[in-house]
This record gives sequence, structure tokens and C-alpha cells, in this order.
Amino acid sequence: MSAGSSANEPAPLVTAYVALGANLGDAQATVRQAMDALDRLPLSRVARRSSLYRSAPIARDSAGRADGPDYINAVVALDTRLPALDLLDQLQALERAAGRERSSPDAPRTLDLDILLYGDAHINSPRLSVPHPRMAQRAFVLVPLAEIAPELASAAQLAVVADQAIQRLQTGV
Ligand code: ADP
Ligand code: MG
Repeated sequence: MSAGSSANEPAPLVTAYVALGANLGDAQATVRQAMDALDRLPLSRVARRSSLYRSAPIARDSAGRADGPDYINAVVALDTRLPALDLLDQLQALERAAGRERSSPDAPRTLDLDILLYGDAHINSPRLSVPHPRMAQRAFVLVPLAEIAPELASAAQLAVVADQAIQRLQTGV
């Protein structure tokens, strides 16, 4: 019996960055529990967690109003051997488990998990775009990302979103 079978060899280890957002119910608890759940994903480990942040919902209607309570946001670095689409499947399962219900694309949600970066991969498939196409426009993504990976969010990028209100929450732990 050979010990060196090439079948089922693990995929390469990649550092992915996952953005977490919640604005219904106990959003802080939801985000903290989601971080723990990410750490329990198969072939994966949370290497770094940002602080939790509070941000206003992005305005969507013609009058510039945004619906719903403030968001709680965070970003984690996830060391994973899951292929990118498998990781997306796992994130969507966690969203469903958090009871997410969507009445419209921008409706409040219990939990939103987005893949910001998957190593240095560039992916454009019907289900997955990486790097996340809107990450550069969102302070609630760039500010927590800069906290845990300053090399991935430049001062120039942060300056572009500096007018968006975002507040870092006390950790309390
Ligand atoms: P959003 O996060 O943009 O507010 P959703 O969470 O409802 O919207 O995501 C809608 C779809 O976006 C998902 O079904 C998923 O297939 C797709 N998608 C594309 N790229 C990504 C990504 N990088 N991370 C997460 N979902 C993505
Ligand atoms: Mg999403």
C-alpha cells in the first residue's frame, strides 16, 4: 500500500479576507458568532479578526434615505484550503443558518458574508467576483481590512471613503 497517494491531496493554503455585516436583531452577537463559525469551517482557520465597527446603511432610494438600523461590520483573515466556490457555498450556508431573509437586494439582512480577496486570485464567474467589485467604495470594508492587513488598504484608498461615517466599537474583551 502506497503512503504517497495523490488522490484527495489538499488544495493549497490561501489567505482569504471575508467581510461580515449584520443589521437585524443582536447584530454584534451575530457578527461575533459568525467569526467563530468561520473558524470552524472545514480546512479553515481564522487567523486575524478586526474590531467590530458600526456604520450607517448605504442610501439607496432617490431621496438618499437608507432603511433600517445601523450595520455592524468586521473583516477576518481566513487561512483556508477550501476552493473559492466551496468557500462561497460555506458562507452562504452560514448566512442561511443565521436566518437571513431577503425581500429585495438591499433589504436589511441578518448576516452578510462576502469574500473580499482570495489570495491574489482574480475570479469572474456568475456566482463569484474576486476581488469584491465594490470593496474600494466602502469604508465599512476598507477600514476593518486596514486594521488587520494594512498592506491591503492604502492611505489613498482610505482617503476616497473618508467621508463615510464609521465608528470602531470598544471590544469589551
Ligand atoms: P451583497 O453582498 O452585494 O449586498 P448578496 O449578499 O445578496 O449581495 O450577494 C448576492 C450574490 O453575490 C451572491 O449570490 C453571490 O453569488 C454573489 N457574489 C459575487 N461575488 C461575491 C463575493 N466576492 N462574495 C460573496 N458573494 C459574491
Ligand atoms: Mg453578500
